Amino acid sequence: MKLLIAMMSHETNTFSPVPTLLERFGSGANPPENADAYRAIKGLGLTMAGMISVAEENGIDIITPIAAGAPPSGPVSDEAYDYISDCICHAVADCDGILLELHGAMVTETREDGEGTLLKRLREENPGIPIGVGLDMHANLYPEIVDNSTVIAGFRTYPHIDMFETGVRAGRVLIEAMNNRVNPTMAWGNCPMLPHVMRQGTDDHPNKMLQEKVAEYEKNGALCVALFTGFPHADILNAGLSVVVTTDNNQEEAIRIRDELLELAWQERENFVYEITPLSDSVGSAFDAADEPGEGPVILLDHYDNTASGGTMDTTEVLREILAQGLEDVAAYGIYDPAAVAQMIEAGIDSEVTVSLGGKMHLDALEVQSSPLTVTGRVKLISDGRYTITGPMGTGSKMNMGHTVLLDTGNVLIAVISRHIEPYDLGCFSSLGIDPMAKKYLMLKSRIHYRATFMPIAKKIIECAGVGVCTSDYDQLTFRNVRRPIFPLDNINSSSFKDGFPDH
Ligand SMILES: [Zn+2]
Repeated sequence: MKLLIAMMSHETNTFSPVPTLLERFGSGANPPENADAYRAIKGLGLTMAGMISVAEENGIDIITPIAAGAPPSGPVSDEAYDYISDCICHAVADCDGILLELHGAMVTETREDGEGTLLKRLREENPGIPIGVGLDMHANLYPEIVDNSTVIAGFRTYPHIDMFETGVRAGRVLIEAMNNRVNPTMAWGNCPMLPHVMRQGTDDHPNKMLQEKVAEYEKNGALCVALFTGFPHADILNAGLSVVVTTDNNQEEAIRIRDELLELAWQERENFVYEITPLSDSVGSAFDAADEPGEGPVILLDHYDNTASGGTMDTTEVLREILAQGLEDVAAYGIYDPAAVAQMIEAGIDSEVTVSLGGKMHLDALEVQSSPLTVTGRVKLISDGRYTITGPMGTGSKMNMGHTVLLDTGNVLIAVISRHIEPYDLGCFSSLGIDPMAKKYLMLKSRIHYRATFMPIAKKIIECAGVGVCTSDYDQLTFRNVRRPIFPLDNINSSSFKDGFPDH
């Protein structure tokens, strides 16, 4: 028996101006292929690594034509998409089955459903081939994804600390099916709701409860159950919450579980709505927070500009407010500005520089724009920007911030970076010689993923509404393509998710 195992993963923020070219899938180079892909992925805390592990445990031969994963950004270029999907499709010939790490929210320049397009092609070219898929919790599910898969597993944690296990779950069911020990049968559906990302964390109600239910259904006999909270920053027809259930040859049971989960999610829709606090109030509350008893830094979360949701990572409004209100002993991660980095490297270590920082990318999707921040400070450190993740999310992955400079304004240490990397591991500070525990305040451009490592060390979290394409204020975005009505863009009072929605 031989399995093809590959990764094609991208969360596409259709409001993001950050381009998604092939090199973004390989940390600045082409994504690794064949033996390089295997070496790059094996043993990491990623879905594809879980798939490799379960295949090898079962003594199955594998090929790994490509491992292409890019940080979230705007629509994927058709050239990159075609390259990656060709690479997978051209390698299938003598394989008995396929395991794919996909994201579920990939949009290309010309396609709303990147994953479904690939899966459909794989099935057309290889009729009946078993395909197991692992998806991110932020998948926006489409019928072609389900129709052309044998089993679909999804993350149950956000921050995503169960990526490896998700790959194992998809792999196990697929291998059982290939050995004719189970007969996977799927049902899927969605709710007309767009949960705010800031309310999707699995530390919080309601997603904690929903994901516990998902695990319970699997414990009680379903082969695989996934509840996707969806990715709302994609203006596409099927953005939003969905469920897919795989049972062993029991369609009725799959439908029953699907409907119970969708109903439960629908009843909780108000709890997925995020309440916004004005920026000056949030930053102003940091002084009192720092005076509270307890250890660790106060975190100021610049969550409108989270690069791991497609943010440009160059908006400056939260940092500007921190400087304006005079907070002291702050480390800020980070501002994406390759030009400022180059200027500061040119000036050299210990030089005093005045730079025009960030605010350089126009946010076409928004009326409100960021603007450059003029900052004077000392070039404290110059780094190649590389570190390895030691925390629970994506453990072992090699990160590349590009050339990075630490600018010291006196009150604030600002990490200025050349590649988009979300701060969800302490390495983003420690690799720059900063002990995050020793700072009074940390500014992070993150939304939920920072929780995996920063929440346990934080004294308090303050969520700051800055500017950016990951805004939690849906009124700042124009949705043209998502199905309507959809909550909370539209006020839907139906008591059941089924009312008035003929699909179900
Ligand atoms: Zn996600």
